[in-house]
Amino acid sequence: MDRLIREAAALLQNSTFTTAFTGAGISVESGIPPFRGEKGLWNNYDPVCLDIGYFLAQPEKSWEVIKQIFYDFFGNARPNQAHRVLAEMERRNLLQRIITQNIDNLHQEAGSKKVFEFHGNSMKLVCLACYQEYSFSPALLEKLPPRCPGCRGLLKPDFVFFGEPIPQEPLDAAFDAAKKSDVFLIIGSTGEVMPASQIPPLARQHGAKIIEINPQESNYTKSVTHIFLKGKAGAMMEKLAEILFPPSLEDN
Ligand code: NAD
Repeated sequence: MDRLIREAAALLQNSTFTTAFTGAGISVESGIPPFRGEKGLWNNYDPVCLDIGYFLAQPEKSWEVIKQIFYDFFGNARPNQAHRVLAEMERRNLLQRIITQNIDNLHQEAGSKKVFEFHGNSMKLVCLACYQEYSFSPALLEKLPPRCPGCRGLLKPDFVFFGEPIPQEPLDAAFDAAKKSDVFLIIGSTGEVMPASQIPPLARQHGAKIIEINPQESNYTKSVTHIFLKGKAGAMMEKLAEILFPPSLEDN
């Protein structure tokens, strides 16, 4: 493993354009479970609550589950060492872009600036009638489904539901990054969610070296990844940080 870490760190040091591509796994050590797998949220909740058709037909039922998962439960999560190391890499010009599938805002809370959210962000709500946007506050969710304080229209979390298209800006940023990255760092993604799953293979086709961090093999590991760092995001990013910018970052 030490040899793989040193090889990965050397690739990152010599790269002129590096992209981090993050999935639910990077936030697991912040206390947010992924959707899939043994401890995944879909073992306890029905994914239909995130289907746009169901949401529009049954907003109250859908919101009850959404509130539990994304606001009561995710609400207290803080960035972990993996988010913090990525933010420090950006400050030191070792990372040019983050493409995240996550909606938890933890990259931004860790200090990252160049973050493109493929699936939107749960910390913003949007009115489906007048399109006014609101920062999340618990007061907005006192009565479900939440209504726009301005026009009483239905409020929706500003993340991508099943059946909705990916917003154009992160889509363009992701394809652009895939085409120009020397190094593409995948952290904590199964590679099962389309169309995000197409981005790392595209980066490889365009010549990027692919580093992957995950405690388990993903759809990318055998076919797309060059260097597989088998382990948790926090520990692996800490090892990379020890080489990239010693001494290592203090917690908090
Ligand atoms: P996923 O749920 O399909 O898979 C998570 C991956 O993380 C798995 O490969 C797992 O082995 C890995 N993992 C688990 N613990 C890890 C750790 N400590 N360090 C590194 N990796 C670890 O995730 P996905 O592929 O990102 O797809 C799910 C979709 O659901 C995402 O697109 C995202 O929008 C959404 N989602 C977001 C959040 C969030 O915002 N934090 C949480 C759950 C789901």
